[in-house]
Amino acid sequence: MTQARPEIVLVRGDITEQEVDAIVNAANSSLLGGGGVDGAIHRRGGPAILAECRDLRASRYGKGLRTGQAVATTAGRLPARHVIHTVGPVYQGGSGDASLLTSCHRESLRVADELGARTIAFPAISTGVYGWPVEDAARIAVEAVRGAETAVQEVRFVLFDERAYDAFAAQVQ
Ligand code: ADP
Repeated sequence: MTQARPEIVLVRGDITEQEVDAIVNAANSSLLGGGGVDGAIHRRGGPAILAECRDLRASRYGKGLRTGQAVATTAGRLPARHVIHTVGPVYQGGSGDASLLTSCHRESLRVADELGARTIAFPAISTGVYGWPVEDAARIAVEAVRGAETAVQEVRFVLFDERAYDAFAAQVQ
């Protein structure tokens, strides 16, 4: 496996529209759907994704997916080939465990390597309902990707709003 630093690309838009080998879902540990990017992925991808998530809950992940871990399913009707579900840490009381947010990115890239994916799109994990300040989350996410050993060639951060885009742009100069 050839390993070099992946190229980091920033896009303002909707992750469900990305034509990449894998998109990452900011899931919750139940794997059974939620709001935000999770809801959008299941809505646009159709029931095949949830069916595979249910199978995972009935087999390897009886207690759910732990924070910082990642697991792949089909992407159903989405243009991407796979969805990699990861669970971001919650930011509360003015702090969060940055090592878990790093782990989300590293584990997603490890799963992408197992799938043979060369292009992957991430949302701004933990910056929605989970409350992580986007400027800080952007720094952690970009550092995690830069420090990763992976055969993935392109990491695309897909930012839903201008503030998130600007926060990531400030890290990718
Ligand atoms: P978390 O629970 O990890 O905080 P959320 O889904 O609530 O996850 O939010 C994560 C980020 O994804 C937020 O910045 C939110 O604006 C963004 N987001 C929501 N929908 C989409 C989408 N369709 N494509 C890309 N990003 C999205």
